[in-house]
Amino acid sequence: MTIFERIINREIPSNIVYEDDYTIAFLDLSQVTKGHTLVVPKKAFPDLFSLDDETSAHLLKVCVLVATALKKAFNLEGLNLVNNNGTIAGQSVFHFHIHLIPRYPNDDYLMVGVNHQSKYTEYDLNQIKQAIIEAQS
Ligand code: AMP
Repeated sequence: MTIFERIINREIPSNIVYEDDYTIAFLDLSQVTKGHTLVVPKKAFPDLFSLDDETSAHLLKVCVLVATALKKAFNLEGLNLVNNNGTIAGQSVFHFHIHLIPRYPNDDYLMVGVNHQSKYTEYDLNQIKQAIIEAQS
């Protein structure tokens, strides 16, 4: 059982900001920026790849709802939606969750400005596109 299931089951405390039958949202302990919130399905899917259609659709609705509340509460100029899948991508809790990260002027949240556009030709992009389309069949 992950720590998020223990939060859902009220076995450990958390700062819950939203809850319905399928979803819970609570403050991330790390507070990368003020108001940093996790939106979490109650059903324990390990990652994005395992989510079902109903859960993924509902989760995005809850993200919009909570993000709108954050925007209003803290007069936000912006917000990042972040989701990590797999250790290589920085996932540390293997129960699917979406981070809502409010943005403030001069905050210290790091968004690395990587741009590899010059390394990819039109041919390369076409090859990548074809691989993704073929993987859908
Ligand atoms: P990730 O690295 O994307 O898997 O994110 C996991 C997040 O869970 C991290 O940002 C942690 O700070 C957060 N976290 C871990 N334990 C707790 C907890 N007990 N209450 C709130 N947030 C937590």
